Amino acid sequence: MSTENNPLLVQEGLPRYDEITPEHVEPAIDSLLEQAEARIAELEQNAESTWDGLLKPFEEIDIPFAYAWGPVSHLLSVKNSDALRQAHEAVLPKVIAFGLRVQQSRPLYDALCALRDGDGWNALDRAQQRCVKLKIRDAEQAGVGLEGEEKERFNEIARELSQLSTDFSNHVLDATKAYELIIRDQSETEGWPTSLRQVAAQSYAQANEDTDASPDEGPWRITLDFPSFMPFMQHHRVRAQREAIYRAHVGRASAGEWDNSPLIDRILTLRKEQSTLLGFSCYADRSLASKMAPDTAAVEQMIAELKSASDGPMRADFAEIEALARENGQETPLLHWDTGFWSERLREARFDYTDDQLRPYFPLPKVLDGLFGLSERLFGIQIERADASTAHPWHANVQYFHVLRNDQLIASFYLDPYSRPAEKRGGAWMNDCLNRRQSERGLQLPVVHLVCNGTPPVGDTPSLMSFSEVETLFHEFGHGLQGMLTTIDYAEVSGLNGVEWDAVEIASQFMENWCYHKPTLIGMTGHVETGEPLPDDLFEKIVAARTFQSGTQMMRQLAFGQTDLLLHTSYDPKGEENVFDVEHRVVGEMSALQPLPESRFLCAFSHIFAGGYAAGYYSYKWSEVLSADAFAAFEEAGLDDESAVAETGARFRDTILALGGSRAPMDIYRDFRGRAPSTEALLRHNGLTDA
Ligand SMILES: [Zn+2]
Repeated sequence: MSTENNPLLVQEGLPRYDEITPEHVEPAIDSLLEQAEARIAELEQNAESTWDGLLKPFEEIDIPFAYAWGPVSHLLSVKNSDALRQAHEAVLPKVIAFGLRVQQSRPLYDALCALRDGDGWNALDRAQQRCVKLKIRDAEQAGVGLEGEEKERFNEIARELSQLSTDFSNHVLDATKAYELIIRDQSETEGWPTSLRQVAAQSYAQANEDTDASPDEGPWRITLDFPSFMPFMQHHRVRAQREAIYRAHVGRASAGEWDNSPLIDRILTLRKEQSTLLGFSCYADRSLASKMAPDTAAVEQMIAELKSASDGPMRADFAEIEALARENGQETPLLHWDTGFWSERLREARFDYTDDQLRPYFPLPKVLDGLFGLSERLFGIQIERADASTAHPWHANVQYFHVLRNDQLIASFYLDPYSRPAEKRGGAWMNDCLNRRQSERGLQLPVVHLVCNGTPPVGDTPSLMSFSEVETLFHEFGHGLQGMLTTIDYAEVSGLNGVEWDAVEIASQFMENWCYHKPTLIGMTGHVETGEPLPDDLFEKIVAARTFQSGTQMMRQLAFGQTDLLLHTSYDPKGEENVFDVEHRVVGEMSALQPLPESRFLCAFSHIFAGGYAAGYYSYKWSEVLSADAFAAFEEAGLDDESAVAETGARFRDTILALGGSRAPMDIYRDFRGRAPSTEALLRHNGLTDA
């Protein structure tokens, strides 16, 4: 295949997701790399230390990649196939090499530094200055200062690390896909919620091309995919089967052809070596050099503070479910495959509602209406459904929307709402499709992808969301808002670009808070059959359930953060402890139950081994502190005072959402809040303070 009629080379409108096939990848990327290389070489010869002579050409070089490499990476997550993976793997090393080559260009680095230190500096606006500073920082982190052998070694490591992270993530996907537990005996499904029956029967039907599998009569197929695994652990009464699937889950990608254990040590060793080349004493120091948190001590301090407030409540949570299990006749001690089950029984006893009771009140279209209404109240924007078929969707279920302000189009977004285990990565995420940028072609408005793994519609019934799926949607939409409401014209720092990792969850977690605001939540419910809104008493229970086992949940996240931090500071792959010893020690100390000796949670910890959260998992909590404190600004203004909410919302829009990566996050935060953040609101929202 040549470059003619290659959809990856179209550079206008939206990417042609519906036309791209794996065969397009290699010729398109090869041709783009060749052109880009020529332009960079030219720029190196003629680099001027001015915005127009240096940064503008960078933007122009970036545009073809936004239309080609972005879509390939996106399709790898939502339309994975062996052929696409191979095509991606064939070009990945070349793309990495080119990226490094640009970052490591000494002439360009010198030109950037000359711009920063020259007379023209003060004529640049703040966003432009930040753009230059970030480029200098990234070049330094990419080893621009290295020469000769050291530079070669640095690049060799970068290539190997990139391959390792792709392998790591594919192993997790394959190991997840390979496992199934088939249930045929109807009596074993006693107590299952309807949604689990539906998901499991549908999964069986798809895997076996057997359309006779029915929600009521089975067979049912349970997988390690979250919408299947999670409710199964909460509701399945046959303890031995819970144990089997729990063991499969904590042993994912830890043996055989998908074994990630050797990859983990290799990744940690290489990260450490690369950091040393750059002059850092460990990978965590290197990671924090580009984060909002000043140093590892500050992170340790935050973890210690939250831990001391949560440890006691966590142990009390465990004692409670242990007692409940005993009262209900479980004679053996409570183990890992029991905690989810008995926690759910306790939740039902205490709050007297089930996920299934709530689902009919949350049909996806109704929830979207509520979310869009809230966005209008808070930020003065309107969201309109557009015809997805004209937006080159990658799947028939994909939806497409426009965002307007003062009747003007300012952004658009894709929504890919449902789980598709065979080709789509688990979890939920937002990423950019096209960044806002001003270039020779005019103003490009931002377009983002919102991807969830919600419960698919069954038959004619729309997707009925669990409450946590609703929260997840709000979360991703919050990220989306930061991508879409940006007012910055330089792609490098518009939207979420340039935002420090540990500040990246502010807008997303902020939006989740609105799921607990009564008029907002009630307003987006409508029973799928009767149209009735969610009854008051159910709302009250949802609010009460919010802090249910919050100490346990807090400790779980802190344990992940602490493990991640230790692996990237003091851990020595040649030392006495192996990574799983560290996992077991930290998790053991921070949970009520010691982990199983064979637990290999790290083997599926894609966040830190195949994602961007290495020595940065703590970021979730760091930005949660900020997002809770930001929501507290609305609480202080009065949540039911529409004009106060609109005023505070406008300030949030014009600072955190609009400015994104164009300034240091603490400065933007202070502009919004008028002071530095405090942990008080986060602990209060979690019911972990006495107040
Ligand atoms: Zn997020």
